[in-house]
Amino acid sequence: MSTLDIENVSKFYGTMAAVDQFSLNVRAGEMVALLGPSGCGKTTTLRMIAGFVAASRGDIKVSGRSIVDLPPHKRNMGIVFQNYALFPHLTAAANIGFGLEMRGIGRAEASRRVDEMLALVKLDGLADRLPRQLSGGQQQRVALARALAIRPDIVLLDEPLSNLDASLRSEVARDIRILQREHGFTTIMVTHDQDEAMAMGDRLVVMKDGRIQQTGDQEDLYERPETAFVASFIGRSNLIEGHVDGQRNFAFGGEQPLLLSSDRRSGPATMALRPERLALRAGREAGKLTGTVVVGVYLGAVVEHAVQIAPDKRIVVRQASEPGNRLCLPPGSEVSIDWDGSAERVFEAS
Ligand code: ATP
Repeated sequence: MSTLDIENVSKFYGTMAAVDQFSLNVRAGEMVALLGPSGCGKTTTLRMIAGFVAASRGDIKVSGRSIVDLPPHKRNMGIVFQNYALFPHLTAAANIGFGLEMRGIGRAEASRRVDEMLALVKLDGLADRLPRQLSGGQQQRVALARALAIRPDIVLLDEPLSNLDASLRSEVARDIRILQREHGFTTIMVTHDQDEAMAMGDRLVVMKDGRIQQTGDQEDLYERPETAFVASFIGRSNLIEGHVDGQRNFAFGGEQPLLLSSDRRSGPATMALRPERLALRAGREAGKLTGTVVVGVYLGAVVEHAVQIAPDKRIVVRQASEPGNRLCLPPGSEVSIDWDGSAERVFEAS
């Protein structure tokens, strides 16, 4: 098991920093998910680790040794590409064994390892199938087996679930996670999907505009987001722009300013409200916020209401549905919304 240390790595294209001073220490056997919207620099980071893109600055070390001057094939990394990149004319077994031949591993040993990998990813009976004779989930497992067959120091997964149907995703995510835990391969995964990152990573790195916004485990990011961006990206908080004055008043364009749960410095600020920690009641009685229902949607486990709380501001309230009471209020209903301190974070504008 190897460690991976990324130290102050940047990548410039002209004057634009695609990745800006990225630092991360991945522990042996840990799985870290790089997460962020399109263009945030996650793929570029993965490519710098793999060696397909040269870092402009900084160092990358595997188990303490710098690898930045090594070409990709000398970095001993197992890579699973987004489209799996399987050879269409080779069987599952031949695909898995491909990297072994390239590395000069003898036929007997290669064949033993291919069998071991086929068993590991539970494809024993499908060794002789071509990729087009396999389902998306099975192709994904061949790609993973091929990456693991070379006994890599580090495993890199580039959007590993994006080619799969929604119904297969959570199953394959769980399979990869179980394999990763059982065998302890140090892994970096890239995704733009927060649910995938939450389900698979031991830790998550949230990126935006080439920079790390926050690194932490699921609970750190969900309960203690350090920026409004993280609050909205992880768990889809409602963001309300406004202005703090008089310590506890938050003016945002609604009928009444909001009373904050704790004292704040005066000035522009963004409030993040967790949709599932808000309580919605019909009528305009005592509530921190009042508003009008725009639409209510029954989604089975939950009911979501979009509520207009100011002329140019809508927020979402998500509540568990109850049997026999679908809770959906018709558009135009007057409502009040309440919450306790755990639903609310306030970020002062920097
Ligand atoms: P996506 O989820 O869409 O793949 P990403 O987070 O992986 O996005 P990157 O592909 O790492 O983002 O790109 C980061 C930034 O660097 C983007 O603004 C992109 O346009 C830019 N970029 C990437 N590769 C190059 C290149 N070869 N030349 C110039 N700019 C590039």
